[in-house]
Amino acid sequence: MIRLPSFSYIAARSIAEAVDHLAASPAETMLLAGGTDLLPNMKRRQQVPRVVVGLRGVAELSGLGRDGELTLGTMNSLTSLVRDERLKRECPGLWQAATQIATPHLRNMATVGGNLCLDTRCTYYDQSYEWRQAINFCMKKDGDICWVATSSPKCLAVSSTDTAPMFQALGARVRLVSTRGERTIDVADLFANDGMQYLTRQPDEIITDVIVPDQSGRRSAYWKLRRRGSFDFPVASVAVAGRIEPDGRVQDIRLVLGAVASRPLGIPAAEALIRGQVLTDDLIAAAADAAYPAGKPMDNTDYELVWRKKMIRPLVTYALRDLRGDDTRALRLRLARQIL
Ligand SMILES: Cc1cc2nc3c(=O)[nH]c(=O)nc-3n(C[C@H](O)[C@H](O)[C@H](O)COP(=O)(O)OP(=O)(O)OC[C@H]3O[C@@H](n4cnc5c(N)ncnc54)[C@H](O)[C@@H]3O)c2cc1C
Ligand code: SF4
Repeated sequence: MIRLPSFSYIAARSIAEAVDHLAASPAETMLLAGGTDLLPNMKRRQQVPRVVVGLRGVAELSGLGRDGELTLGTMNSLTSLVRDERLKRECPGLWQAATQIATPHLRNMATVGGNLCLDTRCTYYDQSYEWRQAINFCMKKDGDICWVATSSPKCLAVSSTDTAPMFQALGARVRLVSTRGERTIDVADLFANDGMQYLTRQPDEIITDVIVPDQSGRRSAYWKLRRRGSFDFPVASVAVAGRIEPDGRVQDIRLVLGAVASRPLGIPAAEALIRGQVLTDDLIAAAADAAYPAGKPMDNTDYELVWRKKMIRPLVTYALRDLRGDDTRALRLRLARQIL
């Protein structure tokens, strides 16, 4: 059994209390939501905060407001999203993303905020302390080299969150609060393409809400490639959202790749092709071609990287067919069985 390192635990009762504790020593303090990512990381000594501030008792973070836009407190569990029939109807992409995260037990604990801030992943990093010590560590923690690309000046660990690409495609924003005040930014601006500094969130900030714009008249879909259909992290994924006008033309399209970089990756070239056009099979094929070069998976997660890259085309194709309203049940089955 791997034990947790010693740390001080503070159970916050309000956002104000949580940000006060963060401000006291931001570099040494971490927030604990469901703990399904942070606690295993602490056991493996990947993250070793001296102080942990628990958010479970902060009722303000579990709100859910529906006033045109959807305001989701970051302590809402993933299970609450999966059980939300209205979300399934009105924002199917987010519902599809949430249902494919981990297992039911983990989703009971796991939260929206924790999923957005999920640590980036890598074969050389997600290992025990002793395993990492045996290779003299790597630059993400305790070492100074990247074993994936030894000449790389930066860490290439993979963004493996399922909801972040979908929130980005939905045009969602996040509210960040600290003792210095609060700010609201696009989810797209919360992430940086750097495996170590993958969030633009400052160490003294707490993400309190995710605000999803009104989805009436809009459609969305999320498609994920993983080894096991029962539960597994994504090794490539596609989130799409847009509005299909009565004449069939697509507007407000956003297409985002997940798990092929250190951040969710918007694909403006594919969006430009689709915007204002009818989603024909030919256009879908052209958009999949446009997305293909943008995804540059590295050899640091499950599956062979060339195959993962190859899978970008079918994933984009399936997601766009889903957005168009095709019956994609057989395609979902093919993806689960990896007959692509
Ligand atoms: C077996 C297994 C399978 C998994 N499969 C998947 C999967 O398929 N897809 C997937 O996306 N994830 C997966 N996960 C990872 C994890 O369970 C989820 O990402 C989960 O949503 C993390 O949420 P949490 O509340 O438990 O986060 P925590 O572990 O509590 O926190 C994660 C990070 O977020 C920070 N944080 C939490 N809340 C806030 C906040 N409000 N403001 C600022 N920072 C915050 C924490 O400080 C920490 O750095 C899996 C985990 C396991 C163990
Ligand atoms: S990508 Fe390189 S630096 Fe980053 S975790 Fe993996 S081996 Fe370490």
